[in-house]
Amino acid sequence: MQGYVKGKPIFTSINNVDNQYPYLTEDLETDVVIVGGGVTGSICSYYMSKNNIKSVLIEKGRIAHGSTSVTTSLLQYELDENASDLTESIESKDIVRAYELGIHALKEIEKFVDEYGNRCDYIKRDTLLYTAKNLEKNSIKEEYEFRKKNGFDVEYIDELDNPYMFDLKAGLLSKKGGAEIDPYKFTKHLLEVSKKKGALVYENTDAKKIEYLNEGVIVHTCYGYKIKAKKVIVATGYNTSLFTNKNFGTKYSTFNIATKPVKEIIGWKDRVLIRDNSDPYNYLRTTNDNRLIIGGEDIDFKEIEDEDIALKKYSILEQRLKSMFKDIDDIEVEYRYCGCFETTKDNLGYIGSDIKNDNLWYCLGYGANGILFAILGAMMLSKLYYNEKDEDMRLFKVNRFDN
Ligand SMILES: Cc1cc2nc3c(=O)[nH]c(=O)nc-3n(C[C@H](O)[C@H](O)[C@H](O)COP(=O)(O)OP(=O)(O)OC[C@H]3O[C@@H](n4cnc5c(N)ncnc54)[C@H](O)[C@@H]3O)c2cc1C
Repeated sequence: MQGYVKGKPIFTSINNVDNQYPYLTEDLETDVVIVGGGVTGSICSYYMSKNNIKSVLIEKGRIAHGSTSVTTSLLQYELDENASDLTESIESKDIVRAYELGIHALKEIEKFVDEYGNRCDYIKRDTLLYTAKNLEKNSIKEEYEFRKKNGFDVEYIDELDNPYMFDLKAGLLSKKGGAEIDPYKFTKHLLEVSKKKGALVYENTDAKKIEYLNEGVIVHTCYGYKIKAKKVIVATGYNTSLFTNKNFGTKYSTFNIATKPVKEIIGWKDRVLIRDNSDPYNYLRTTNDNRLIIGGEDIDFKEIEDEDIALKKYSILEQRLKSMFKDIDDIEVEYRYCGCFETTKDNLGYIGSDIKNDNLWYCLGYGANGILFAILGAMMLSKLYYNEKDEDMRLFKVNRFDN
């Protein structure tokens, strides 16, 4: 996707991507039209079909080649920032609720895998939030106490009991607080299951104009064909300009490198999902074929076009990875890529209808938990279709920051 993803993404490179979908060659009528064929749109397609709502998904390029091709796919219930840093934007009880919803979304992914098979390298993982700085020990302790008090399964790690190879002054381990997947395989599997349940999927089909009617919408596509539906779901990731001029959050570019498979993963106990407490933070995971991925070094989004900056960031990430895991002596970087990432003041995404237009719905997984928010969004929107109100949707309201 022009400007939003750069470099050579790991997940569309290591997977077989030959299974293409057709482009739209007729007018259609359906219940819901989903615009955007990344992981979010595909999750929406799955939940619509699961709930007997007819849907048509259109993707302007290729399925899962946008942000979905580069997501590190760390699935964690926690938010980008620690609870104590968020209290100006969101009440503590709502942070707790957001954590609980994250756990709920993780279980939904597990249910999908249990029901349809694990074809996306899904693995449940503990997650580690840590600091290598004495100054930040308190911040980790505070977050640990917040979670402990609110009933989450967490463990505090002191520097004297550090089981990892890298320097750690304090750590917070969330037991079974996360999971990892291959986002490309997950997206394709979701669509395969949705299609079997009757969902329609088209790629190379750009939504050009949305016509809003009293009783629904008409989506005009690039070759002149139209899709009439009761609702349109915006699942276009970080580019929503076709639907609104609203500025939803703050855009950054975030950088990732992925190594070739290494012989042995040493000093990375249980292959936990790792995030440090820095601002901007670094995040790390392994893959089932023994690759290491490290991301971070976020900068203002406008700089994504600057190749020199990207090269410097990749080099910093490589040095950091090598210095964290000194005993892994065959670290060799194979993929370098970056992409747009957008976050909000309260670290939550946007789910629900446009404030002025009941037929325009958003499912935007902004923040570090994009994929989990997409799960929650798709579930909530499929209830909304039947006029059932989900109380938790208030947390993700599209106009919550409007004055
Ligand atoms: C380097 C990096 C690391 C990340 N790591 C994580 C992580 O660890 N965990 C996490 O949860 N999130 C992470 N994210 C965020 C993550 O990418 C998102 O959560 C998720 O992949 C976004 O998926 P999406 O489907 O919403 O967007 P996309 O994959 O971008 O899909 C949107 C699609 O809409 C299509 N589209 C746009 N306009 C139109 C139109 N007019 N007509 C038809 N189609 C259209 C686009 O072509 C695109 O394919 C990361 C992001 C980056 C860049």
